[in-house]
Amino acid sequence: MEIRRDPITQSWVVLGHREASDETNCPFEKPAIDKQQTILSWPAEGPWQVRVVPHPDPLYRIEGEAGRRADGIYDKMGPVGAHEVVVETPDHNKRLSQLTDEEIERVIWVWATRVADLKKDLRLKHVTVYKNQGVLSGEEWPHAHSEVTGTIFVPRRIKYELRAAREWFKEKERCVFCDIVKQEERQKKRIVDTQGEYVALCPYASRVPYEIWILNRKHNYSFERPRPGTNRKHLAALLRRILRRIRQIAPAYHLVVHTSPNTIHPKGETASRYWNTIADDYHWHIEILPIVETRSKSYSIKEVYYNSIMPEDAAESLRSLDPIA
Ligand SMILES: [Zn+2]
Ligand SMILES: [Zn+2]
Ligand SMILES: [Zn+2]
Repeated sequence: MEIRRDPITQSWVVLGHREASDETNCPFEKPAIDKQQTILSWPAEGPWQVRVVPHPDPLYRIEGEAGRRADGIYDKMGPVGAHEVVVETPDHNKRLSQLTDEEIERVIWVWATRVADLKKDLRLKHVTVYKNQGVLSGEEWPHAHSEVTGTIFVPRRIKYELRAAREWFKEKERCVFCDIVKQEERQKKRIVDTQGEYVALCPYASRVPYEIWILNRKHNYSFERPRPGTNRKHLAALLRRILRRIRQIAPAYHLVVHTSPNTIHPKGETASRYWNTIADDYHWHIEILPIVETRSKSYSIKEVYYNSIMPEDAAESLRSLDPIA
């Protein structure tokens, strides 16, 4: 297994990863889960609700040589990094959307705790949380889980976001995400729901039908370091209502948490000097991409997205769905 970089697009591609053969037993239940190393368990004592274990078939491994090597004109590196599974509930038949606000708040707390902890490994330039829900999303197990990966490179889409946010800030001295939230809240056309300081909206150029971003109305660049006084229960409640709406329109979705990269490296794309305005220009957010159409062009032609539903209409139908159904 190795990671190669496309010299034109600068995308990193993990090559040679083979998924393990299908297991019939769920690995996240007793007795299987008790045989695995526990990275984090919540609560620490007694029966757990959320448990973090190493990914049984990881894309990246903590051990190994991290070095980027030249291969003629190309760049490659070993599959060094972190890959963990967050088991969101001990109950095999529950989805994240079926947990209580308190339980979802704990899952969010575990996500943030793992991101903060992995960022202590200075080799890791970026840490992200994602979730594939439903067979169409490519989920690996039906048991409710999310994944945390730490990589020694910054994924391409994040790099684009970081660059764009920095350019916007350089020009206007404002955060582009804060500007988006302000305009969307003024126009209200694409807002789906709000709770406390959190807002959920269909982005202006939604890539897929019913795409939703969840953002903090108040500026904060780091998901794992919330603003003092932030009430994560509000985020949990909003996420729960959004996921419950999505369940009524889509059998599957992808969810990803975008937070700032590790900005302490002396050189390269995460050097602190390069990103010296990141605390002001970047803004963490959650992106949710429902999978509505099984044969959508969006999924086959990735260069340009084709979305048959206007985000204004998507937001309107999402608003009209019962958020607790
Ligand atoms: Zn299970
Ligand atoms: Zn902002
Ligand atoms: Zn993003």
